[in-house]
Amino acid sequence: MKEIYQQLGIDERVFAYGQQFEEKLKERFQQIDQTAEYNQLKVIKAMQMHKVSAECFMGSNGYGYNDLGRDTLEEVYAECFRGEAALVRPQITCGTHALALALLSNLRPGDELLSPVGKPYDTLEEVIGIRPSDGSLAEYGISYRQVDLLADGGFDYENIKKAIHEKTKLVTIQRSKGYQTRPTFSVAQIGELISFIKNIKPDIICMVDNCYGEFVEKKEPLEVGADMMVGSLIKNPGGGLAPIGGYIVGKKECVDHAAYRLTSPGLGKEVGASLGVIQSFYQGLFLAPTVTAAALKSAIFAANIYESLGFPVIPNSWESRHDIIQAVTLKSKEALIAFCKGIQAAAPVDSHVVPEPWAMPGYDDEVIMAAGAFVQGSSIELSADGPLREPFAVYFQGGLTWYHGKLGILMSLQKLYEAGLVNL
Ligand SMILES: *Cc1c(COP(=O)(O)O)cnc(C)c1O
Repeated sequence: MKEIYQQLGIDERVFAYGQQFEEKLKERFQQIDQTAEYNQLKVIKAMQMHKVSAECFMGSNGYGYNDLGRDTLEEVYAECFRGEAALVRPQITCGTHALALALLSNLRPGDELLSPVGKPYDTLEEVIGIRPSDGSLAEYGISYRQVDLLADGGFDYENIKKAIHEKTKLVTIQRSKGYQTRPTFSVAQIGELISFIKNIKPDIICMVDNCYGEFVEKKEPLEVGADMMVGSLIKNPGGGLAPIGGYIVGKKECVDHAAYRLTSPGLGKEVGASLGVIQSFYQGLFLAPTVTAAALKSAIFAANIYESLGFPVIPNSWESRHDIIQAVTLKSKEALIAFCKGIQAAAPVDSHVVPEPWAMPGYDDEVIMAAGAFVQGSSIELSADGPLREPFAVYFQGGLTWYHGKLGILMSLQKLYEAGLVNL
C-alpha cells in the first residue's frame, strides 16, 4: 500500500500520519456505513415500488409529453424523500435556480418571506432582493424578514414568534451552514423549529434548503414536517453522475406551483423533455447514499488530521455531521495555496493543472479553487476553495469514493509538509 501511495507522490511519513487516524475512526466510519446501508435500501425500495424499468431510460425530445422516465423518476424522488410529489428536471439549472423557483412560484405580491435562521446562502440575497437585483422577490412586492440565530447558534424563538404575522406566507430554513461559521442543523432540530412555527401559524409553508444535506442522515426534512425541500443534482442526490439538474419535493400543491412557473401556466409538469440525461439521474440517485458516505468520511478524516496539527476546523474532529462541508482554517496564504494544490494534484481529471489565486466576479479578495471533476463545478466531487484573506480558511467538500477523498487529503498534507508548513 505504501508503495502505491509513494508512486502517487505521498511520502512514507505522510502516509503513516494518515493511517493512525484511519484506525482511530473505524467505529465512526461504521456508523456512516450503516446510514448509507439504510439509505441505499430506501432508494432501492422506492425504485422497485414505482417499477423502474429499461423503458424509463429512453428519454424524450421536443415537448416531452408522456415521458415515462421523467414521470417515474419524480415518483421515485417523492417516495424516497417522503413527499406527495416531486419536480426533478434537467431544466432546473442549479441549486439557486431550484430555490428561486420554489420561492417565486409559492409567493404572491403582498406576501412575506421569513428566514428564522439568519442570512441565507449568498446567491439567495439577489433572489430575495436583499441586494437589489433584476427579477427579485422584492420587485414583485414580496417582503422579507430575517431573524438571526442566537450567539450560541440556537434558534431565537422569542423573536421568531414576534416576526410571524398575517402576511408571513413562507419560511425558508437553510440546513447547511454553507460558507458561514454557524452550525449546520440536524433534521431533528429543523423539525423542532417547524413545529414551533406551525404552532403559531399552521398554514405557513416551511421550505428547507437541503443542499449538501441529502442522505447524511436516515431522515430528511419532509419527515419532520417540512412542506418542501429543495436541492441540486450536482451535489449529493445526483451521486456524481447527474450532469445537471435540481429538485423540489414536497406537498403536491407546492410542487405544482413550481412546475407551472418552471414551464408555463397550464402546462406544468406535462412538458419538459428529459433528453439523454435521465439514466444518469436514476443511476446517480442509486449511488448517492454511498457517495455521500464517502464525502462524509473524507470530511471527518480531514478534520481529524488538520485539528491534530493545530489548525481550527469546523465542524471539529468529533462532532456529529449534518452536511458534507468541512472548513479548515489554515492561517497563512502559503498553507491555503499548498492545500488546494494538493487536492488538485490528487484529482482523476486535470491533475496536471496547478491552481493559482485569481480575482473572481463577486468577490473582494482573490480566490483559489481546486477541482478536477468529471462534471464542471460539481461539489459532490472532491473540491476545495477559499478566499485569500484572514484567517485563510479553505472549504473542502466531496469525494465520490472514500479512497479518492483520502488521497486528496494526504496529498494536501504532502504539499504542506514539503513546503515546511507542518511538522509530522
Ligand atoms: C450550493 C448551495 C446553494 C446553491 O446551489 P448552486 O447549485 O450553487 O446554485 C444554495 N444553498 C446552499 C446551502 C448550498 O450549499
